Amino acid sequence: MEEKLHKQVSELQEQLRRGDITRREFLRYATLLGVSLGAAEALAACAPAPTPTLVPPTPTPAPPTPTPVPVPKFYGWSGKVLDVDLTAGKAEAKALDQVCPDYKDYVGGRGLGVKILYDAVGPDTDPLGPENILIFATGPLTGTSVPSSGRFCIVSKSPLGRPKAGKDTRGVVFDSHSGGDWSDVLKHAGFDAIIIRGKAESPVYLWVEDGKAEIKDATPLWGKGCYETTAALKEEIGKAGIKVACIGPAGENLVRVACVINDADELGYGRACGRDGGGAVMGSKNLKAIAARGTLEVPMAKPGEMAAAIREAFDRQTPDPICGAGLPMYGTAILVNVINGAGAYPTCNFQWGMFKEAAKTSGEALVGEVAEVPKTLTKTEGCCRTCTMKCARVTSIPEPRPGYVTMGAGEGPEYETTWALGAQCGVDDVFAIEEAHYLCNELGLDAISAGSTIACAFELCQRAALDLSEVGYAKGENPFSDGEAVIKLVSKMALREGVGDELAEGSKRLAEKCGRPELSMSVKSLEFPAYDARGVLAHGLAYATSNRGACHLRAYLIAAEVLGHYCGVSPPDIDEPTVEFRLSKDGHKTDLVLIFQNLTAAIDALNECLFTVFALGADNYAKMLSAATGIDYTAEGILKVGERIWNLERLFNIREGLTKDDDRLPPRLEEEPMPNEVYSAKEKKALTPPVEVYPHGVVEKQPSAGSVVPIPEMLPVYYEKRGWDSEGVPTDAKLGELGLAWAKPA
Ligand code: SF4
Repeated sequence: MEEKLHKQVSELQEQLRRGDITRREFLRYATLLGVSLGAAEALAACAPAPTPTLVPPTPTPAPPTPTPVPVPKFYGWSGKVLDVDLTAGKAEAKALDQVCPDYKDYVGGRGLGVKILYDAVGPDTDPLGPENILIFATGPLTGTSVPSSGRFCIVSKSPLGRPKAGKDTRGVVFDSHSGGDWSDVLKHAGFDAIIIRGKAESPVYLWVEDGKAEIKDATPLWGKGCYETTAALKEEIGKAGIKVACIGPAGENLVRVACVINDADELGYGRACGRDGGGAVMGSKNLKAIAARGTLEVPMAKPGEMAAAIREAFDRQTPDPICGAGLPMYGTAILVNVINGAGAYPTCNFQWGMFKEAAKTSGEALVGEVAEVPKTLTKTEGCCRTCTMKCARVTSIPEPRPGYVTMGAGEGPEYETTWALGAQCGVDDVFAIEEAHYLCNELGLDAISAGSTIACAFELCQRAALDLSEVGYAKGENPFSDGEAVIKLVSKMALREGVGDELAEGSKRLAEKCGRPELSMSVKSLEFPAYDARGVLAHGLAYATSNRGACHLRAYLIAAEVLGHYCGVSPPDIDEPTVEFRLSKDGHKTDLVLIFQNLTAAIDALNECLFTVFALGADNYAKMLSAATGIDYTAEGILKVGERIWNLERLFNIREGLTKDDDRLPPRLEEEPMPNEVYSAKEKKALTPPVEVYPHGVVEKQPSAGSVVPIPEMLPVYYEKRGWDSEGVPTDAKLGELGLAWAKPA
């Protein structure tokens, strides 16, 4: 055991010996420190017994009248929501069914958050004004032993994503998810959710512990990075088992692509609610952090059924090649070679779909399996509670890079961030990608949007629409493939320094300001993640119709189109996905998009990790949810919850001004056929096949060459199957079926 951990565990043993904490609390705090449950049990047993206090013998009292044990009103849910008004300086615990009487229809997490948000804000609400609200929500499985359930989400009106039409205050609804321990601790602190309203006069943080909350001064923390903030708060509060979610300078500076980072620890881990600018919403409220500690029970309705459902889930996950092998061994970056090989790996702001040097930045490279790339992986254990897939990694840069390496170690990079700060910017230098990612975590930036905005700025500069002289490139020069420039722009963006002030607005606003809006690779102003839809057409439809903007996590069609996981929808008559299947747009693809969107919304309402979908189906989620809550949810019922959430989000966006014109991809993906070329960072130009691309050998033709995404053809089919009219508005019949008639657009 490391020396520091040893000291912390010894202190806990001492507290146990003195009787200051219970055995259960000991187990809980020890596991929060990273000790396995088995080891914690052994350590508890080793703690010296409390010194007996000598008391004079007393006569045997009459047996007490048994006190009836109160029956919990809620199972699975803790039944409490913390409502915080920062303007008034008040925090009040409210009953869940008072805040959301129909909570069973929305379950928790994304569903609960969206319902609360819909009722609280409207099209006149400035996303960065005090009237916007920010919700932190867990789900009924959070805090239980359900595999990969240690997650939470934030929900708000986005300062980044927006429809084209509407008032100046327009913004789409968004939810953004994260793992780690923070969610578990919040649930055990007695709350299903926290609602943040108003704006504090000066920087504050929220301290939540076992049913109580306090708003405290955070002035000394303002300006500090996420790791420094977390460490300072743990020291200030001085108790074991504290977990922190906070913002960095990017959130304070209202950078529209700022994120919320939680569980930033001395081991290097740090998880992010990345997408859509939640960090800026938090910053606009002068809220630096939420620190939490919890020891309360989460009552379970049917523990026996829950144990059986958990066993079944593990039995399905363990033999799955992705859940049981790929993710634990290589992390999400195992996808780099897979997606590059499919010709769907966006390169240099989506100018190309294949990157010759991609393997140098892959999951295999991180573990030292790629020649000439030193191993940088240092840790894989830990990460989200109750997860055996353990996709997160900590890396460190083994060689000093004076001049641009300032941190040198930290969490990641994941697949998405490897791409955003790498191929998307034409960069193949894994050290530069890692350093840029560490900085994103410390400064509190969404690495996907940050990398994509930098890539957009690079292309604007290349096409003489933006001057990047501050990082060495005048208008008309080509900055792609310069890793040092990426790192410098990450810092400038977070601190709003120089040209970074313009990048801080996100790629859409930046490209509009430069007169080239089509060069922002985004939907509804949210930057794309790491899949070029010209190589995966159903994924393209999912991007176009996504409620929070371009996002792979609203419906991960890559599972079906590339990895051959169809999530309960009858698979096509093929052994594994072919190029023809990926590039087809038939009705079956639309069915896949619908069911993936509904199922994902339901999984997000449970706050389960989406990666479980590779092995589990709606039936598994229904069993676990029913056992936790005591309410009978069926697989169909779960999908209906997801569909309800999806439609309510749609109605929110329509109220903000959204029309069918917002369900479109940038012209590059709809009109420019994928080039039959492979970009090379080493040569700083695209090469025409045949080209050697490790580990795929000689590529004779870019697999997606010539493809575009025919959204105008796919959209009407999608609307019809959704039960929406030709303008993309849910019909009365659909709203009635989902119990949403009350939210019918005016
Ligand atoms: S798979 Fe990764 S993100 Fe999902 S719960 Fe496990 S560690 Fe967390």
